[in-house]
Amino acid sequence: MEMKKVHDFIINSEHEYLETLIDLVKIPSVSSDAHSVRNCAEYLVELMNDCGIQSKIYETKGQPLVIGEVTSPNPQALTVLFYGHYDVQPPEPLELWVSEPFNPEVRDGRLYGRGTGDNKGQFLAHILAVKSYLSCEGSLPINFKIILDGEEEIGSPSLWPFVLENKELLKADLVLTSDGPIHDSGAPMVVFGARGVMNFELKLKTATTDNHSGNKGGVIPNASWEMVKLLASMIDETGRATIQGFYDQVLDITEYEYDMIKALPFEPNALAKVYGVDKIIDDKETFFKKLLFLPTLTINGINSGHIGQGTKNIIPCEATAKMEVRLVLDQDPKDILEKIKNHVKKFNPQVQVLKEEEDMLPSRTSAELDICQSVIQAVKIGFNQEPVVIPSMGGSLPDYVWTKGLGVPSIMIPYANADEANHAPNENMSIACFIKGIHSTAQIIFELGNN
Ligand SMILES: [Zn+2]
Repeated sequence: MEMKKVHDFIINSEHEYLETLIDLVKIPSVSSDAHSVRNCAEYLVELMNDCGIQSKIYETKGQPLVIGEVTSPNPQALTVLFYGHYDVQPPEPLELWVSEPFNPEVRDGRLYGRGTGDNKGQFLAHILAVKSYLSCEGSLPINFKIILDGEEEIGSPSLWPFVLENKELLKADLVLTSDGPIHDSGAPMVVFGARGVMNFELKLKTATTDNHSGNKGGVIPNASWEMVKLLASMIDETGRATIQGFYDQVLDITEYEYDMIKALPFEPNALAKVYGVDKIIDDKETFFKKLLFLPTLTINGINSGHIGQGTKNIIPCEATAKMEVRLVLDQDPKDILEKIKNHVKKFNPQVQVLKEEEDMLPSRTSAELDICQSVIQAVKIGFNQEPVVIPSMGGSLPDYVWTKGLGVPSIMIPYANADEANHAPNENMSIACFIKGIHSTAQIIFELGNN
């Protein structure tokens, strides 16, 4: 078949497709607004059915999921599951918006409105790519599945249990997610994983009350010193965690991943400016190894004693440190927490290790797989530009839901412009990016269906 026909169809439908996005952004589906979220879910079912995608709502304990499907006539066809979310961030502060958040406006080649880039314009690109493909060809060369989350902006609490209970329904050979911005340079990105995150807290109480630092100075313990000593014991002068066994499960970097690192753009001076620091590690390999392939042990904040105006001569009785570990494959947050507890117990048994938040597991997909190479190739054609291929990202995303929950490769391909202002006033999506996204998904369907 001729892909030109599909791409031409997309070009001829640009105006109509933009109108579809405008209508979708008009629904104020802020995660906490259950009524609007449901309206949006119902709207999407209708929209997808009109596009030839068999769709329905699936209830969860929270907001509903919308799932759609197109089955290929080819019994050998690959199945690709697309993930997106139709809930949006609250639009406040309203006074900072140039146009109304839920009455989208086109200015300078961008559509402004809450949810344009995050995430309606991105998952709609998948839906419209299917519509275009079906309009030209009558069928798809892959089995297409799409799952749309109504709770992403509040941490997707229902997604993980739903995936675990519906593995057959969601069964796929590959999962693709388009969310977040493309590379700062304007190049598209293809991302193969994310670090996980585990938050915890250290708490110490050395006395029932703060004490006079003269009258009792030198004879009772100081919670600030005790905490600082414990924290200092957890890391060496190079920044490496000294918790026993901390790095045991960290996977080696493959040859292929080293090659990917070498191909990444890297300008240490420009980055230092962006980060607001004097300088950063200027060896590219070390920089990316530490950012993408190694775990971190980070103090997010310390609180103890008097830090207000003037002096207060006390011996603080309490100290708290909020901390996190960014996890990489194959680290297990429960195992790491156990190791931290052991360290703390040995060093200062009075310190409590507390934990409230849910963990996010690390994930990574091998970019070497044929299907992954096909996706990279398709994005290059869709954007008409060489993509930046990132073996894993420093930050955390619930990508493990697919790699661990379904046990399949998962790739992230952001479609929004780098300055989409997601979560901020004047969120926008460049119309060019929206259209390139549609071309990319159409090309992905073609490449994965014909290799
Ligand atoms: Zn978001």
